[in-house]
Amino acid sequence: MRVKILGSAAGGGFPQWNCACPNCRALRAGTFRGKARTQAQLAISADMKSWFLLGASPDLRAQIEATPELHPREGIRQSPVAGAVLANADIDHVLGLLLLRELQPLQVYATDSIRRILSEDNSMFAMLQRVPGQVSWTDFAPQIPFRLLEPSGTDSGLRCRAFSLGTHYPAYVSAQRQGELNSGEASLGLILESSSGKSLAYMPAVPEIDGVLLKLFESADVLLFDGTFWSDDELIRIQGSGQTARQMGHVPVSSADGSLSRLAGLRRPRKIYIHINNTNPILNESGPEYAQVREAGWEIAEDGWQFDL
Ligand SMILES: [Zn+2]
Repeated sequence: MRVKILGSAAGGGFPQWNCACPNCRALRAGTFRGKARTQAQLAISADMKSWFLLGASPDLRAQIEATPELHPREGIRQSPVAGAVLANADIDHVLGLLLLRELQPLQVYATDSIRRILSEDNSMFAMLQRVPGQVSWTDFAPQIPFRLLEPSGTDSGLRCRAFSLGTHYPAYVSAQRQGELNSGEASLGLILESSSGKSLAYMPAVPEIDGVLLKLFESADVLLFDGTFWSDDELIRIQGSGQTARQMGHVPVSSADGSLSRLAGLRRPRKIYIHINNTNPILNESGPEYAQVREAGWEIAEDGWQFDL
């Protein structure tokens, strides 16, 4: 399985259009020691021919253009993008689906709840189903492994298992609708397995770390983990108001019960922070937070990285 990191930032990207935090300001001024990043997006493939997206970011068009493996190869209208697996219904995670609407056959895997939010409540998503054989939705349930199939029905050789991580639906989902949905299907972590048995854990939004998750992470070969915020009150300190990281469903990197400390005992997986918010000081490669994370054995994902499992 080849894994390509097309985007490594949290929602908004880095820099974010309306943000003048110290990171965004310095990046725009050309004085920042660190890299710009697009919104979190992965692509995986078993054969380097057909690719599955994990999520569909608002930056997907530019991310595909920046990735030659995802360019059309045959005929006038074709794409190596075979489908997408959705882990939640956040705008930053699903908006890119609307960019893939040009009558291209795609398999989209989602929980029943996420599929209903998108295809029943948001009429724009009807653009994905204008003709037969365009987007095929396949429901999956947490914990139950499923195979990723190409639009033709061919088995890609990749398997996926989802784990329920959070119970909050996006704010745009009405209270009435939320009451009809299964809260365990709101926000998921994904485990992708290659035919060789190697596995990738993709966990961009983790509200808390418990023993079950620790065991799950220890069984993975690569862990791509929630690096959204350095501290719980990061946004409040920068903006003067707002929610804590934990209220937004993200365990912070630092502090005694942050991910750096809680995941320090993991032995097996290669550990990489992803989904990094533009305010997070670990983006600054000359800062102490960056040094602390690197010294603890973590890597910090960058757009364009790839690895094989
Ligand atoms: Zn910023």
